[in-house]
Amino acid sequence: VNKLLIYTKDGKKMKIAVPGTGYVGLVTGVCLASKGHKVTCVDVDENKVKKMQRGESPIYEPGLPELMKESMENLIFTTDYKSAYQDADVIFIGVGTPEKYDGSANLTYVFQVAKQIAQTAEKHCVVVLKSTVPIGTNDKIESYIHNKQVNDVKIYVASNPEFLSQGTAVHDTLHASRIVIGVTEEYPADVLKQVYENFDAPKLVVERRSAEMIKYASNDFLALKISYINEIANLCETVGADIEEVTAGMGFDERIGHRFLKSGIGYGGSCFPKDTKALNWFANFNDNELRTIKAAIEVNENQKFKLVKKAKKYYNDFLFLNVAILGCTFKPGTDDLREAPSLVNIPILMEDGAYIRVWDPVGQENFKKCFPEKIQYCSCIEDAIAGADLCLILTEWGEVKEFDIKKYEELMKHPIVLDGRNCYNLSDFANTRITYDSIGRRTVNPDLYIEK
Ligand code: NAD
Repeated sequence: VNKLLIYTKDGKKMKIAVPGTGYVGLVTGVCLASKGHKVTCVDVDENKVKKMQRGESPIYEPGLPELMKESMENLIFTTDYKSAYQDADVIFIGVGTPEKYDGSANLTYVFQVAKQIAQTAEKHCVVVLKSTVPIGTNDKIESYIHNKQVNDVKIYVASNPEFLSQGTAVHDTLHASRIVIGVTEEYPADVLKQVYENFDAPKLVVERRSAEMIKYASNDFLALKISYINEIANLCETVGADIEEVTAGMGFDERIGHRFLKSGIGYGGSCFPKDTKALNWFANFNDNELRTIKAAIEVNENQKFKLVKKAKKYYNDFLFLNVAILGCTFKPGTDDLREAPSLVNIPILMEDGAYIRVWDPVGQENFKKCFPEKIQYCSCIEDAIAGADLCLILTEWGEVKEFDIKKYEELMKHPIVLDGRNCYNLSDFANTRITYDSIGRRTVNPDLYIEK
């Protein structure tokens, strides 16, 4: 069976193509190249490809530029998919599967690539779906390719869902919690085990549909955990408990754990919002109802606006107010804005007449593309908060957590800090004249600046 593969000189490395050079595709390609495989990364975005050919990463991801540089001898970047697919041993599809208007997953890009593979593959190969796709999609892709393929070669399809987190994507790939391999026959599993031979992670070979489900069920469980703790946080605020103490106490139970038990203004990003909606849609389509997931989605939708609602306690309206925004990405460690709370909250403040100043260490440039006018972009936190009537913390960047809180009092006109990510201890504000209002905890100095 292994004769189907062409090996490089040391007998183990493969010729790999990776369509889609986003957070998943590029990280996958670079990590595989770092292990010695010959990797061709393909994208339709010419600007991105030109950048990568110069050795630059088009996305912000810690450790990625360095690993890319180290592995350049094993990497090719191109828009020419034919040259990449025609003699590849393995093709990892990492293109996007964004949300459609009805919440279902948009599979257009995945099928586009499948078509291109069918038209160009000239050698037996394994097509691996890394993109998150609804259960049964691998089956459809397989039938589609077999139907459309031009050359008489054997093309296998395997599912290999991705579990990396943006901000720690390189580490998560090189030290994966698990590598899930979904197959309907042995050969593609053997090939994938070989691809991942030098990755120190448990390898789990399962049915293809189970692999697809593992991905959604994992992401949706984490989203559920976040929405659950946000509801508990909201109740804590009402009844005078402190969510940070509550989660500290809960997390010691190993069955619960501390991770993803952090209350805030909800989850965002390119995965949890769309993956909860896609599974919910898919369940309905299959005459099932996922009531827990529906609740997680609903809770998150409300939680996103928590700080703007809190702001109404201090100001009747936002007309002519100077509002400082700290952080606009959906989480620290990334420049990604997809489904970030900033995208929906800042327009509300602006429409109500506020002047906005934004600080973010890496997300600002992307944010500027969405909001080129009317917002003042600042290079440091001090500039953003100087003279402000209100400060909203939307992302828990290290710079915010380490910021000397006395400066809020010194620099802001009305030092009201609304913290959507619980960056500070309440005791830090005890001897200040700062109103500090966070999530699931009592407000420190609640009445100092309330408009009469
Ligand atoms: P992304 O939007 O960052 O990147 C997708 C890339 O695919 C883009 O560069 C786009 O130009 C390219 N593309 C589109 N059509 C193409 C084609 N025909 N040929 C070649 N390239 C093409 O996406 P992402 O965030 O990396 O996510 C990719 C998939 O992985 C999604 O299904 C997502 O749900 C899943 N996933 C994402 C993460 C994450 O943290 N971002 C984690 C796990 C799984």
